Amino acid sequence: MRRNPISPTVDFDCDGVQHGHLRLPHSRNDSAWGSVMIPITVVKRGQGPVALLTGANHGDEYEGPLALFDLARRLTADQVTGTVIIVPSMNHPAFLAGTRVSPIDQVNMNRAFPGAPDGTATQKIADYFQRSLLPMADLVLDFHSGGRTLDFLPFAACHILDDADHSARCRAARDAFGAPFSVEMREIDALGMYDDAAEGLGKTFVTTELGGQGSSTPNTVAIARRGLRNLLIHAGIVVGDLDLPPTRFLSQPDDACFHFAPQPGLTEFLVTLGDPVRAGDPLARIWPVHITGAAPVTVHAQRDGLLMARHHPGLCQMGDCLAVLAVED
Ligand code: CA
Repeated sequence: MRRNPISPTVDFDCDGVQHGHLRLPHSRNDSAWGSVMIPITVVKRGQGPVALLTGANHGDEYEGPLALFDLARRLTADQVTGTVIIVPSMNHPAFLAGTRVSPIDQVNMNRAFPGAPDGTATQKIADYFQRSLLPMADLVLDFHSGGRTLDFLPFAACHILDDADHSARCRAARDAFGAPFSVEMREIDALGMYDDAAEGLGKTFVTTELGGQGSSTPNTVAIARRGLRNLLIHAGIVVGDLDLPPTRFLSQPDDACFHFAPQPGLTEFLVTLGDPVRAGDPLARIWPVHITGAAPVTVHAQRDGLLMARHHPGLCQMGDCLAVLAVED
């Protein structure tokens, strides 16, 4: 396999606090021999567990970057045993553009794994995480939120994994994060996800969905910051007491949890995030926008559950993810 073109300006073996970059060569019209400079902080003291913390895998999700830029500025070497690797904006070009996928290659970072050292910019970043950063880590946290086109109940999540011990490790880390909701998550399109890459290497992996609408709130950012601190304590890297408010456990038993827009139009939600619904209940109406006098199409719940995620903003395209249900355990 070819060598990855990314070079770090930090030394992962060096004790102390280092603020630097992952430098990805990116030769382009406005910068011959130029680079994409992805910010990274490494805080290390001695031997111990290694945590790899990432945000902006999708560039329009903000709780992760807010919590991680803050942690990178505050965390000191004498507070840790082991290593904390912080990359607040994993897909840095997408983050700078405020878009889900990279403006350089239109690639979705979370469908680009395992990546390719000779691929596009996003595939090169994925390959660097796959072959250089993930192998160093014991604990991997990847922050997500809904971005510009979804809004979520704030939750930490793990996946159902084949190995029972691995599953239990991931579930314990999810629970230690301490989000208002704790989800065993079903993926409808898992191929190429960072989640799969981390789990495939046997890492303890936690992800989140902490809100959305392409922005953040004081509440969701506070959840992200508290969860970060809790996870570092749980991993044995930072000393302290876990701050665990009550959580509600949700799961997603089947694909009927997912509802897609059957036609484009103007969406009128009839339920609010967190509302309980029964199979057959109306979730939303979609109004035609090019004519008056026509009836809206009603989208009904395909199963019992509660509304875990919804489309945002007001207009939808045919096939958009409109509503996602989960079941309270
Ligand atoms: Ca996301």
